Amino acid sequence: MKDSNYLKEHNARSLWHPMAHPADSLKNPPTIVTGGAGVRITDVDGHEVVDGVGGLWNVNLGFSCQPVKEAITAQLDTLPYYSIFRGTTNDAVIQLSEELRDFFEPDGLTRAFYTSGGGDSVETALRLARQYHKIRGEAGRIKYLSLKKGYHGTHFGAASVNGNQNFRAPYEPLLPGCFHIPAPYTYRNPFNESDPAKLAQLCLAALEDEIAFQGANTIAAFIMEPVLGAGGVIPPHESFMPGVREICSKHGILLIADEVITAFGRTGSWTGSRHWGVQPDLMTTAKAITNGYFPFGAVMIAEHVAQVFEGDETGRAAIGHGYTYSGHPVGAAAALACLAETKRLNVAENAGARGAQMHRGLLALQEKHEIIGDVRGGHGLMNALELVSDRASKTPIAKPAIARVQEVAYEAGAMVRVSGPNVILSPALVVTEADVEVILTALDKGL
Ligand code: PLP
Repeated sequence: MKDSNYLKEHNARSLWHPMAHPADSLKNPPTIVTGGAGVRITDVDGHEVVDGVGGLWNVNLGFSCQPVKEAITAQLDTLPYYSIFRGTTNDAVIQLSEELRDFFEPDGLTRAFYTSGGGDSVETALRLARQYHKIRGEAGRIKYLSLKKGYHGTHFGAASVNGNQNFRAPYEPLLPGCFHIPAPYTYRNPFNESDPAKLAQLCLAALEDEIAFQGANTIAAFIMEPVLGAGGVIPPHESFMPGVREICSKHGILLIADEVITAFGRTGSWTGSRHWGVQPDLMTTAKAITNGYFPFGAVMIAEHVAQVFEGDETGRAAIGHGYTYSGHPVGAAAALACLAETKRLNVAENAGARGAQMHRGLLALQEKHEIIGDVRGGHGLMNALELVSDRASKTPIAKPAIARVQEVAYEAGAMVRVSGPNVILSPALVVTEADVEVILTALDKGL
């Protein structure tokens, strides 16, 4: 490896970072991560911290998952790549599909379509939703509804259903026919409603209203995260997603659960949809499907949707969509090993217990630090703080101040993620009680 000074100097010269101003890495050089072991990362200067971010909500099993590394190596030795476009398939992807079918059976999802990551999965689901309606003779159902503050990735389709201007404005015009309703975000909402149950009803009424305004027979799908993640960890009231399900079913609109973050245990349940007792029509997954060891994703398809495609005799169900790396054998082998470890370690249960510990710790920090406006989470290892410069007026904290929180927490032993005014905590699902304490103590110092 090149030495620390070389790396620091050359990073800014030759690459741009996602979600950053290209000149920023010159002014604020990023941390150069050189190692990962267990739930800890090490930087180029030898500083070791607990990773409170879990990679990017994806390294749920930590960095030392030997069975996954072995599965990848073995697959590389046997078949490093072959496509699964019409005419060929591979052993790993067939085995994985059977495993996923079992895993997602309680969600009513029985077929998989493979992708290279979350944005690809969202794109796939949006397309399949339109195609589903075309097959059924409802070609006019082309629009999409989603939540403000939702995050679904950066492809044009995904960006079009995103509910945050930062990811939309620089690239507009986006896909026409995408409309957004208010998120059940209790701390700030247009209804000025602080009761989560009442807010959920108001947001559901807004959904009904938008459907009536657009015309139900023009809408293909509603897409939502069961717990909004990148938007600052916004768990809806328990009545919200079941309410969405009911409204979608009533109007023939497909419900796409974007579970790129929540699938495979993060909420404390195996899927976010199951957490709320809902069966979606399509579910997008990525991230923890391979835990960051290989770029991979899958869209899971409900049996009744699959039957519409498979029963088509008009040719309209031919899938004109897919990626070179759909069903990549190495990704499939990694996913198989990840799934086996995910189940063996029962990570959902640990996520529930450690998430509750984290949430209690954050509430205690709120008693102590005036700059904590809101504490959100309480559903597994998805927690966040929203920082303010003034609690009464809820004025969002200034950028340099929150950057300093992150910096001091890092010096004190934990990597935390900053997104707008939010500090987001999403460590690996295998964190211990002691790891969570390290994160809370470091964050306390930062705050
Ligand atoms: N959907 C959700 C809910 C996400 O959180 C993300 C990424 O964080 C995506 C989609 C996009 O995934 P990717 O960055 O792998 O394209």
